[in-house]
Amino acid sequence: QEEDSGGGEYLFKIVLIGDSAVGKSNLLSRFACNEFDSNSKATIGVEFQTQVVEIDGKEVKAQIWDTAGQERFRAVTSAYYRGAVGALIVYDITRRSSFESVKRWLDELTIHCDTTVARMLVGNKCDLENIRDVSKEEGKTLAEEEGLFFMETSALDSTNVEAAFEVVIRQIYNNVS
Ligand code: GDP
Ligand code: MG
Repeated sequence: QEEDSGGGEYLFKIVLIGDSAVGKSNLLSRFACNEFDSNSKATIGVEFQTQVVEIDGKEVKAQIWDTAGQERFRAVTSAYYRGAVGALIVYDITRRSSFESVKRWLDELTIHCDTTVARMLVGNKCDLENIRDVSKEEGKTLAEEEGLFFMETSALDSTNVEAAFEVVIRQIYNNVS
């Protein structure tokens, strides 16, 4: 469901989930501020960033939530998921364990969100082809099995970052309009 944020425009809450250090915070800062940070210090402060996108001539506000690093303790709270209509489930293509965690993150989503939540599987760090540990084919296959959209991205060189968010935002828009 969409929320009316006062001006009659659309406001969509989208959550970023996935193991620690897969690049969630950098995907968000790349999308919202066109910034990348090579230091892996934990996210402090900001709960979400709002980005305005135009779809079919309509102003859509994407409110994108980032964990404050609490995924390290497997303690992402239900408040984090509350009201979310979209999710990016992120893994790191150079770290197989983060890919193997995807199913657990999908279970979390199922517990906390409506089944209509728009879901995108994101294989991040595709700039690191030389140390790739999960093939693109494996990502695609998992996405097909689970009924997710799929893209490989790089927050470092910007590959597909806008595209990944925009596919989710458009899907949410299609669900509600
Ligand atoms: P989070 O814990 O999921 O929020 O991950 P961060 O965004 O903090 O990123 C963890 C580490 O991976 C940092 O050192 C980032 O600089 C690095 N990183 C994030 N995205 C990319 C990427 O697309 N490519 C490369 N090479 N490194 C990345
Ligand atoms: Mg983070």
